[in-house]
Amino acid sequence: MFPDVRQRFQKLAADRPLLILAASVAICATAAVAAPLSRPEGRATLVSAVEQAVATATPPRPTPMRLVWEGADVDGDGRADFANPTGQEPRGHDAYGEGEFGASRDGGSRRHEGVDFRADAGQAVEAPISGYVTRIGYAYPGDQTLKFIEITNPALRYAARIFYVNPDVAVGDAVAVGQPIGRAHSLQRKYPGGMTNHVHLEVMDRAEHRIDAARMIVARLESATAD
Ligand SMILES: [Zn+2]
Repeated sequence: MFPDVRQRFQKLAADRPLLILAASVAICATAAVAAPLSRPEGRATLVSAVEQAVATATPPRPTPMRLVWEGADVDGDGRADFANPTGQEPRGHDAYGEGEFGASRDGGSRRHEGVDFRADAGQAVEAPISGYVTRIGYAYPGDQTLKFIEITNPALRYAARIFYVNPDVAVGDAVAVGQPIGRAHSLQRKYPGGMTNHVHLEVMDRAEHRIDAARMIVARLESATAD
């Protein structure tokens, strides 16, 4: 191939390697017949044909999928009674451990009693259940920055506590599942050096036992183009 042609091919190949390979094979054959490469206009035709093909070709894309969160319908009325408070995945492994229910804490002397859902500091946090705000408190004694909100649902007989939220609601307010109730705190000052920002969600059942919130809030993959 001629030097100027080769240079432009190399640039294209670096940008779109698979496409350029396919386009070159197909177009070299036709362009060589239509306009011999020994003539400058032949080379120009070849290069512009390849560039045109690369510009207009649509590479095959995988079906776009999105993660949706489904809350359990515990009273059987056809509507979700639980919601993911941040819309994000549970916190995975980080410098401070794992975010799932029952994960080891304090070297194994206690268990994690909630589920940590990843959060961006300042993002809206939604009510994980419907009910009344029965308590707003501090997550840690002596620290007035990190708060929690407790919501109690006397009809379902579930309660939820959601930690590290700056509340937009007050004790006594009625809230609907999925309604914004506050903003997520940053945890970087409390846990420097590798803590994933998150909210910590504890769910208590009618016997006031803490249950695994991940059983009530389940991820499902669906086609992003679905209705
Ligand atoms: Zn936690």
